[in-house]
Amino acid sequence: MALLGCIADDFTGATDLASTLVKGGMRAVQLIGVPKPGDALPEADVLIVALKSRTAPAREAVADSLAALAWLQKAGCRQFFFKYCSTFDSTEAGNIGPVADALTEALGSGFALACPAFPTNGRTVFQGHLFVGAVLLNESGMENHPLTPMTDANLVRVLSRQTTGTVGLVPFATVDAGAVAIRKAMTGLKEIGRRYAIVDAVTDAHLRAIGEAAEGHALITGGSGVALGLPENFRRQGLLAASDPGALPDVAGHAAVLAGSCSRATLFQIGNARGEVPTLELDALATPDVAALTAQALEWMEGKLGAAPIVIAASAPPDKVAALQAKLGREAAGALVEEVLANVAEALVARGVRRLVVAGGETSGAVVQRLGVRALRIGGEIDPGVPWTYAEGSGEPMLLALKSGNFGAPDFFTKAFGVLG
Ligand code: ADP
Repeated sequence: MALLGCIADDFTGATDLASTLVKGGMRAVQLIGVPKPGDALPEADVLIVALKSRTAPAREAVADSLAALAWLQKAGCRQFFFKYCSTFDSTEAGNIGPVADALTEALGSGFALACPAFPTNGRTVFQGHLFVGAVLLNESGMENHPLTPMTDANLVRVLSRQTTGTVGLVPFATVDAGAVAIRKAMTGLKEIGRRYAIVDAVTDAHLRAIGEAAEGHALITGGSGVALGLPENFRRQGLLAASDPGALPDVAGHAAVLAGSCSRATLFQIGNARGEVPTLELDALATPDVAALTAQALEWMEGKLGAAPIVIAASAPPDKVAALQAKLGREAAGALVEEVLANVAEALVARGVRRLVVAGGETSGAVVQRLGVRALRIGGEIDPGVPWTYAEGSGEPMLLALKSGNFGAPDFFTKAFGVLG
């Protein structure tokens, strides 16, 4: 029976959270969207429903989150976690406030802590202000984000504007004093009617103390960092049994990499793979045609599939991406490439590929949807934030590594298969 039920506002964020909990000793399964009534209930300590609610209209985000909560409650979870981005990505209209309001109301908890801190990635919260590295959130580049521009680093103010409740602060000095002090401060804030507490955190030790202080809280909200301290609460109660929580069933089959991310790290990884394994770089600007690009890839892969990976990339440097976007429009350019890579993924699986790396958040979403994958059991990490996963759904079981564009070392595309043995 699952212990912790999580609702994540995007896909790769859900995987990041899952990976943190697996490292802490919990068996985790990520569900792609709210499971359908007939879907099997996975055996795991943590169930994470990955939504696409970060930038959806607030009403839709709330409805989806409540549906996820209802499913997780039915699955037996006893504590709930609302996961958002460590840069608190949201607008005045939401969706962090409205979703958290709906969840606290549905759970009858009346209170939840809010902590996006993720020191390993440079996100820290001090006196309620969110820093990215050495600068405030509103000077970090996030103030120019196309969908969720963050122009205020004071999270007490930011969350206050999004909620019908009120927001307090558990400041650094209290957090630094440890779990007992944090718990007392949160109880105090709840007693004076605060619905949320922004909780400062500068180090992983702070996050662990916050996790300990949140034992028994019905709802916790935050980035994946604050989940660091949660497994220990369940372990203390003797509820964690798995000796190797990231163990995945072995799946034999051919290996391949699909890249649709144009992020710098992915471009490096493609460059690195070029000298090592067969690598096809599709040129969407020269041939902006789904059928033609798909046909090129299908023809090229003939005779190349085996235990060693092949790489098929549509990725391009910024000037070429801009040129294709100017020609087709931003959305149509993205959709064209995503459709090509989904087609290629389907063809690879039909030809026996069972170990697949996909680079790019949106690209991963398109591939997973096309392959009919409904659930991912989370395995060990290849690089920080990118685990192998065992995919279950309508098709054959397979191993998938879904990489957010900027994640992974330069040799990721070969290293990923090396760690499988
Ligand atoms: P990341 O995780 O790096 O943000 P995503 O997959 O989320 O990567 O986003 C990359 C987007 O760029 C996708 O929509 C993809 O289809 C699109 N894309 C990939 N290659 C090209 C290209 N050559 N020209 C234009 N757009 C591209």
